[in-house]
Amino acid sequence: MQHTASPEAPPCWLCFDSTRPPARPRPCGRIALNILVVEDSERLREALTRGLGAAGFTVDTAADGVAACQHLDSYDYELALLDLGLPRKDGLAVLRHVQNRAQRPRVLVLSARDQVADRVGALNQGADDYLVKPFAFDELLARLHALARRPQEARPLHLVAGALNLDPRARLVEVDGQPLSLTPREYALLELLLRHRGRVFSRAEILDRLAGGAADVSDRSVEVLVFWLRHKLGQVGLKTLVETRRGAGYLIA
Ligand code: CA
Repeated sequence: MQHTASPEAPPCWLCFDSTRPPARPRPCGRIALNILVVEDSERLREALTRGLGAAGFTVDTAADGVAACQHLDSYDYELALLDLGLPRKDGLAVLRHVQNRAQRPRVLVLSARDQVADRVGALNQGADDYLVKPFAFDELLARLHALARRPQEARPLHLVAGALNLDPRARLVEVDGQPLSLTPREYALLELLLRHRGRVFSRAEILDRLAGGAADVSDRSVEVLVFWLRHKLGQVGLKTLVETRRGAGYLIA
């Protein structure tokens, strides 16, 4: 898309969401959407960069999953175009990484994996759309435009840690796609720690958040709660998910 500074120019679709704080103004003074292209094929990566740049996007690229996560941790992107078969870290792992961010881009998976199970798996892990290679560039553009117009709050937020996927709306926990049965308080503790990954919660804080000062709950109850949550997580291979910081409390790193 060619931008011009002419006052007669029609409104630019890129500016439809001017309340978001994107980043880099285009030469014409309008705002471009930031997109991260994650693709290990150099040829395709360069072609996408050229095509999306010409369509008005501000494009960053990553050639592997680790670099993708570093970009996603360092910058805010409105959109991400994500290959699944990537060196160093698989695209699904990048997808799970994205889910835990407060500001996450809308993700379009662009993959040669064309089975229904691949598409369903990626969408269940939080992808917003899925396009199979080989693809028509016009269709890719149309889908990106549609994603960019989608309201932020319409996207479901899942909390993900490795193979574990927690859906706060449904209050469901799955590990490798299999439901994990938890009591309401075990679930609440897991959701609390997942929502604040990397933060240590003391027993007193956990008591306050989960029990609201209920008389039947004590410090000892928190220890028992953590024990049983760990026990159930251990049965599905996630024994070390909830960590103890001696003298401080518990966290999911
Ligand atoms: Ca690939």
